[in-house]
Amino acid sequence: MTPGPPAGGSASGAVSAAPGLSSAEAARRLTQFGANKLPETGTVPGWRRLLAELTHFFAILLWCASVLAYLAGMPQLAIAIVVVILVNGVFAYIQQERAQHAASKLRELLPAMVSVRRDNRVTKVHTTELVPDDTVLLVAGDRVPADLRLAVAAGCSVDESMLTGESEALTKIPGDTVFGGTFLVNGQAEGVVAGTGGNTRLAEIAALTGKVEAPPSPLALELQRIVRITAAMALGIGVLFFVLSLLVGISWRDAFLFAIGVMVALVPEGLLPTVTLSLAVGAQRMAQRNALVRNLEAVETLGSTTFICTDKTGTLTQNRMNAVEVWTPAGLLSVIGAGYGPEAEITGPGAGEARHLSTAALAASVGRAVLHEEQWIAEGDPMEAAIDALAARLADPGQRPEEPEVSHRFAFDPRRLRESAIVGTTLFVKGAPESVIPLCGEDSAGRALEMVDQMASHGLRVLAVAERSLPGLPGASFRLEEVESGLTLLGLIGLHDPPRAEVRVALESAREAGIKVAMVTGDHAFTAAAIARETGLIGSPELVLEGHSLPEDDAVLAALLDRDGVVVSRVTPEQKLRVARLLQHRGHVVAMTGDGVNDGPALQQADIGVAMGLSGTDVAREAADLVLLDDDFATIIAAVEQGRATYANIRRFLTYHLTDNVAELTPSSSGPSPGDGSRWR
Ligand code: ADP
Ligand code: MG
Repeated sequence: MTPGPPAGGSASGAVSAAPGLSSAEAARRLTQFGANKLPETGTVPGWRRLLAELTHFFAILLWCASVLAYLAGMPQLAIAIVVVILVNGVFAYIQQERAQHAASKLRELLPAMVSVRRDNRVTKVHTTELVPDDTVLLVAGDRVPADLRLAVAAGCSVDESMLTGESEALTKIPGDTVFGGTFLVNGQAEGVVAGTGGNTRLAEIAALTGKVEAPPSPLALELQRIVRITAAMALGIGVLFFVLSLLVGISWRDAFLFAIGVMVALVPEGLLPTVTLSLAVGAQRMAQRNALVRNLEAVETLGSTTFICTDKTGTLTQNRMNAVEVWTPAGLLSVIGAGYGPEAEITGPGAGEARHLSTAALAASVGRAVLHEEQWIAEGDPMEAAIDALAARLADPGQRPEEPEVSHRFAFDPRRLRESAIVGTTLFVKGAPESVIPLCGEDSAGRALEMVDQMASHGLRVLAVAERSLPGLPGASFRLEEVESGLTLLGLIGLHDPPRAEVRVALESAREAGIKVAMVTGDHAFTAAAIARETGLIGSPELVLEGHSLPEDDAVLAALLDRDGVVVSRVTPEQKLRVARLLQHRGHVVAMTGDGVNDGPALQQADIGVAMGLSGTDVAREAADLVLLDDDFATIIAAVEQGRATYANIRRFLTYHLTDNVAELTPSSSGPSPGDGSRWR
């Protein structure tokens, strides 16, 4: 056995670039070049914001009234009006500040980490700690953290739409520059940081466009509209009262006083900031439960969610994969081991064949099981780490399998549903059985498909593993379509992923709240159904749909989906988008989870896009409204509950505030204002 890199070393197999900086050098550069973040575009100073609260349209109206009152010889009234303006303005300012503070606190909760090569090994650092000449490793779905000059690029394409507006992803080759803020949508890359923070293209553009203020959110617009309408009404009613008073012969002075009173009572200045603040508080409460909203309105929308489409892996299950069965033509082998460790009890036939299969699957994987503080943990994709653990369990005692010398890798993509790698003159493929078995010879296919169904119906995720030898020289370049054919099936791996304990209770409370839940997963129908049964998600009668056989007719599919406990399996990202759309057409407010690069459109289409904080991609997080810091389904339900509570509070407040305003008009009426009497908390 050659020494090879440490387990979990190079994420791109044999392809690798510079050893990277030392941590000491990185620290020195960090003080020299500063943190890798965009320079602050000048924010509006506090006194200007306070001034704005005192000088908007209705405040000015009241100022005028105050002056008029003073000129009319009513100094007490003039002072009273000024006090009203000041109290309202300061109140609004304070609410606004608190809301903003809360919102900016939330943003810090989501750590943006990036893989770098430092001290000759791969570690994760916070993106703000990147320095020029750092070596950065990217995989599909990552956000490019700074301007990079690519040293390695395998099947690499980049979405630069945020810089150029160009929506087609651009292919990048070694030597090309990729810009901070863009996304890697395909393949893998390794690059050296050319510029950070203020020295990036993104910073240049940001400086060019000046302070771009985020457009006001729909909720803010709606509230502004309410405030404007009620304020205009207040003004109208004030004027009306004034005229009427004059007509019935009340003195000019008393009529004016009356009209001012009406206006002051009716203008709802405090409304907007109070609602914003209550949303911000709602958002903070959600964050305490590991649910991070990316815009405040999501708090309100969450509260009105009526349909949740959740994926399976990691959300309903723990994403702690364990390869427990290996089937080869020699028979079914059972492998019972704990976690990602190398020890296991192995029973059954075909240990030799299984060992070959496991090393083949290992070559087609990037994730590894690594020893971290005496504990074997998953680095990268947990399923691939489980494959690494399997290979170690099947290897000779005390020996870890050698790190395969991969010369080329065709990364996993959710349409192909497989991943392959070339080692020497052999191609190794692992992926969904439906995707891999059709590429293999006839002989073992029938048996294998039977085994897939059997393993999947026990809730195991099943992967098929295959190989072929390639014509030609080692290291020659190959096209994907040419090499992934004429494979020899080596066998199947069955992976166990235990459901999360909290899911059952969370599902029950979702049902009590009248929310329908569907599982929308890329996995096999049998695996999906088994997990849906285990967690109590599946409805009765059971309905399990498969992506490839969904009804063409939108109305038919929509009617099928619009019930509780549907399982939709083997979906593509496009089908996810369709599901979200159809449910919305049925009048649902849809929350949909997603983690992959291609889930962006579905997340954006859904009323609430939900991404994973631990396992998802940057692309998904960027498109989401809600990020689950713990990836847990139960957290979605907790967030919905909090959203409902916040929404109810706002409703109560609005009713209270508006009815109260009207009540102020009728000083002679007895008793409290109408409405439900409960106060905004
Ligand atoms: P889920 O909805 O459970 O998260 P995914 O969309 O992640 O499902 O995966 C769909 C299918 O693609 C899996 O059932 C598996 O067969 C295959 N697959 C997922 N990840 C990989 C990978 N890294 N390499 C090969 N195949 C994979
Ligand atoms: Mg997944």
